[in-house]
Amino acid sequence: MKLDPNRKYWNPKIESMSREELRNLQLKKLKKQLRYNYENSIFYRDRFNQAGIKPGDIRTWEDFTRVPPMTKDDQRQCQEESLARFGHPYGMLACASVEKIVRLSSTSGTTGMPTLYTLTKHDVKVVRELHARKMWRMGFRPTDIVLHALALSMFTGGVPVCDALQEYGITMIPVGAEGGVNRVLQFIDLCKPHYIRCTPSFAEYLIQRCPQALGKPASALGLKGMTLGGEPGGSIPEVRKRLKEGFNIQRLFDNIGGSHNFHGYSCLETVDLPTYKGMHLVSEDYCILELLDPKTQQSMELKDGLVGEMCYTYIDWEGTPLLRYRLGDILEVHLSTCDCGNPGLRFKIIGRADDMLIIKGVNLYPAALKNAVMGFVPRVTGEVRILLDAPGPRVTPPLKIQVEYGEGIPSQDLPGLNKEMREKMHSLLRVTPEIEFVPPNTFERATHKSKMIVKRYEQKGNT
Ligand SMILES: [Zn+2]
Repeated sequence: MKLDPNRKYWNPKIESMSREELRNLQLKKLKKQLRYNYENSIFYRDRFNQAGIKPGDIRTWEDFTRVPPMTKDDQRQCQEESLARFGHPYGMLACASVEKIVRLSSTSGTTGMPTLYTLTKHDVKVVRELHARKMWRMGFRPTDIVLHALALSMFTGGVPVCDALQEYGITMIPVGAEGGVNRVLQFIDLCKPHYIRCTPSFAEYLIQRCPQALGKPASALGLKGMTLGGEPGGSIPEVRKRLKEGFNIQRLFDNIGGSHNFHGYSCLETVDLPTYKGMHLVSEDYCILELLDPKTQQSMELKDGLVGEMCYTYIDWEGTPLLRYRLGDILEVHLSTCDCGNPGLRFKIIGRADDMLIIKGVNLYPAALKNAVMGFVPRVTGEVRILLDAPGPRVTPPLKIQVEYGEGIPSQDLPGLNKEMREKMHSLLRVTPEIEFVPPNTFERATHKSKMIVKRYEQKGNT
């Protein structure tokens, strides 16, 4: 099938639905999903029975909140029990039989036992569709060449996205962040991609290393644009400005494909908007998003500007359709039509519920601290670590942080920079940290989500 490159949406029927139509479609799919999970998963059948509900009892959105939310720990417990009972990790939770499963996937979380998602052929098709909707809206067309410099891993933004884009007709160059900065630069120079996909910190690294590796600046690589993911940065004005200038590009997108069902992209460069509007959620016919009150865990009615803990439910999935799954991210949502002209839900990721620190009664998300530090690049590299001497969330002040100063910054400039940064953080975050400067490249560059918190209390006695 040849697609008209000027059509507005990948899936016009779904993507132009009104909120009411979409909610009705969700409810219809939800009822089917609840029945399917009850019939096919031991875990969900037990859960429903314990809560004293049957799938047929759930008829309205209010009924739906009677389904108990679940967490990553529940998922891990299921995996352990499955291993003991069936000899494989997905028998308790997975709804599809082993012969229908065609791919295992995992999120990018790095602590504890990995949590697995099982995908059937139907699910793989859905993942391809959802990636395609985002990419189409960002302006990617089958004639484009895209170099993948995120990790070539099993999380959605790794191998699955490469598979999806190939299906779409795009020429993929799956070098992967594992290849390292020099190899990625070498392939950009050789294959002349139009776009690259990477984390913001990897992108900064490419700019730094390009002159030495290729004898020319990154602005001479001929790129048209890039998509950022895996860590905060795509929403920070200073980062955006630096990357656009560094690569001499006009199109810079923030995007996410969380756990296969939560797909969003930023619209800023699709219509040249002056300020970041958050990311458009394009997967609501496969994902019901709820926001929970972080204190009471009660579901709140979505409205413009609402902030809460995200909780999502897979609808129209076969492998591991999680119901009311709390992943711990704090989101802000907007429902009004965006300045770009597209309707639908938009969201901003504010931080992680379990990363939140409390300093003298002020809530601080590490992502917000990182954003504040990024504003000082190139005088700093943008890398920052938070040092905790005792488990959070409460921190005895002052909050101790380490910041890498930038390449070539003389030591006599540091006291002044320290004062300036403390004042900026006080005004932005209402927290005044104690800053220790460390040389550039002190911290390991993660190819995926950088871990910002250093738990010094866990390291004591190990060294
Ligand atoms: Zn928009």
